[in-house]
Amino acid sequence: MKTSFDKEMLKIDREHIWHPYTSMIDPLPVYPVVSAEGVRLTLADGRQLIDGMSSWWAAIHGYNHPVLNNAAEKQIKVLSHVMFGGLTHSPAVELASLLIELTPKPLQKVFFCDSGSVAVEVAIKMAIQYWYSVGLKEKHKLLTIRSGYHGDTTGAMAVCDPITGMHNMFSGILPSHYFADAPNGKYHKTWDEKDIESLHNLIKEHHEKIAAVILEPIVQGAGGMRFYCPEYLTRTRDLCNKYNVLLIHDEIATGFGRTGTMFACEHADIAPDIMCVGKALTGGYMTLAATLTTAKVSDAISSGNPGLFMHGPTYMANPLACAVATASIKLLLSTPWKDRVKKIEKQLEADLSRCKTLPQVYDVRTLGAIGVVEMAHPVNMATTQKRFVEKGVWIRPFGRLFYIMPPYIIEEKDLATLTTAMADVIAEVGQ
Ligand SMILES: *Cc1c(COP(=O)(O)O)cnc(C)c1O
Repeated sequence: MKTSFDKEMLKIDREHIWHPYTSMIDPLPVYPVVSAEGVRLTLADGRQLIDGMSSWWAAIHGYNHPVLNNAAEKQIKVLSHVMFGGLTHSPAVELASLLIELTPKPLQKVFFCDSGSVAVEVAIKMAIQYWYSVGLKEKHKLLTIRSGYHGDTTGAMAVCDPITGMHNMFSGILPSHYFADAPNGKYHKTWDEKDIESLHNLIKEHHEKIAAVILEPIVQGAGGMRFYCPEYLTRTRDLCNKYNVLLIHDEIATGFGRTGTMFACEHADIAPDIMCVGKALTGGYMTLAATLTTAKVSDAISSGNPGLFMHGPTYMANPLACAVATASIKLLLSTPWKDRVKKIEKQLEADLSRCKTLPQVYDVRTLGAIGVVEMAHPVNMATTQKRFVEKGVWIRPFGRLFYIMPPYIIEEKDLATLTTAMADVIAEVGQ
């Protein structure tokens, strides 16, 4: 088995392998990783980087964790995978029970799927099939907010921000939905009733055609790393009730403690009718997601025509992924995660505040274990990425944003290295 990464491999990578959102003709450099442990990634040339990204929100316990390794090893010796049609297994049952216990009470039914995007597809299909089943077939549109991100598959893409989600390019196949203005209130700002007007007007006018409102609660992730007021969620819940519209929360990025509460909807103390989880579900070990819903939704779908929910992925409820997810959630619950996230939040707030006065910086914001510096102008990803690697950290900016969301286990000193690198590179950008 090769554990190193030679020049030839890098050449094959460059010539044949597509990376996320890249060109095959002029790809940006990629850095080969040979191993990872705790909050450190080890590159092929021996350099170690402190991870600021948690592999896109997922690796909340850090890498190569003995508890998760053990769960995977134990399960792989018994049952790695089996089809879920007509069969079941304890990893699925254990994980479903945990998810039902942890999420808001009304959510009682779990659909396991392969990735976040698919969880969103499933949520959209559930909402539409719900109204179809109760005889309101014209309710098949979605209402969402601008600056959102819900995944890269076509159904999910149709509810991403119209500009960053590239609706123009795919307009021939994308269904058209309703877009309200993004809430502009910051998380800590006092609530302004005007913030909900746009969504209110759209739901009032079009509710007869709307199956569901879908949004990322509290934190809009890849669509702009924006944090908004809990009151926005409360108002949305009230409007959905008033106008007979389902509410879908996409907790794929926010779930499992990232914002300081187990799920972001807890900031507003409300429950959605459908919830998507993914990313940190397996602690960053493998791809798994789930869509949860209420008995009301599942009963209606099951007593309608055809009476079956029309979805079923090949790798549904993969036992290996379910076993690791259960171990990851139990590990989270056995650690003082709330205190850790709070401590990270405090340090991010203090350390990043020195960026506030720089003219090239538009905004600095933190919430839970997420720190964001929004620049006035787009950032050169290739050059800043290289600078970060030189400084021994893994931070990947996009658009106008520098941001970090480290593993919860990160120690004060390592977090300080991350924030110092971030502030230094941001200062360089202005020169
Ligand atoms: C990442 C993400 C998705 C998509 O998940 P994938 O696993 O990449 O398909 C959907 N919604 C939100 C909020 C996300 O952050």
